[in-house]
Amino acid sequence: MKFHLDTADIFVPGDLPVEEALARTTHLCIGAHQDDLEIMAPQAILECFQQQDKWFTGVVVTDGRGSPRNGIYEKYTDDEMHLVRFKEQCKAATTGEYSAQVFLDYPSSDIKNGINTMPVMDITSIFKATRPQAVFTHNLADKHDTHVAVALKVIAAIRDLAESDQPGKLYGCEVWRGLDWMVDSDKVTFDVSDRENLQAALLGVYDSQISGGKRYDLATLARRRANATFFEPTSVDNATALSFAMDMTPLLTEPDRSPADFALEYIRRFELEVSNRLKRLG
Ligand SMILES: [Zn+2]
Repeated sequence: MKFHLDTADIFVPGDLPVEEALARTTHLCIGAHQDDLEIMAPQAILECFQQQDKWFTGVVVTDGRGSPRNGIYEKYTDDEMHLVRFKEQCKAATTGEYSAQVFLDYPSSDIKNGINTMPVMDITSIFKATRPQAVFTHNLADKHDTHVAVALKVIAAIRDLAESDQPGKLYGCEVWRGLDWMVDSDKVTFDVSDRENLQAALLGVYDSQISGGKRYDLATLARRRANATFFEPTSVDNATALSFAMDMTPLLTEPDRSPADFALEYIRRFELEVSNRLKRLG
């Protein structure tokens, strides 16, 4: 498979040829950085784990060169850091038994550049090779520019596909900002109570990010647990871990709908819920 950058790469954990590994994909997750997939899409990875008819493929869009570094990584050059993060993502793909792991290797600046269409064309090619049932990416209210830029490129790529080739579902998931703020009826809830051990392993391979002082592994598992406990005030916990998502599928079925307007509708419903409660109780 050919991408725009020569440095793009595909890692297949098993011994299947790349094309076959991509073609059997049912769940596709597209994230900005190495570790985003494991933070935002545990539901997709767990659903496919050890299944013969469900396969997870990951896509990391950026190169990971500009990441902060500390401890044993402090003196690493950008190229050395790039290699470390590539290896970490491959470890996660092996641990989670992904069908394939794609690296598009773009600098973040290329992704944040709205008029650069090369990443969109690459993502469209991945959709054609994988034809997934469900797609997971960053949510539109995330607070990291590169994450939101990736979500917009994913939406643009799917809109470039013929309607019959489009995935049935597009979910915007939690990384840099949880989705607890959304009104409950807007939340897509994924029960990720099972296999906390596997979830911990998938997050734990990112030593270069964690040992620098950001405990993404603990924080991510804690967010899933907090989501479950604080979801429903009036009943006991049915799940011990939940992952929330924004259902962005309407942006595919209504191709003229603006992503910005779509995101603001969620915020308006949140605003209305808060103001109605205050009026009712004041
Ligand atoms: Zn990220």
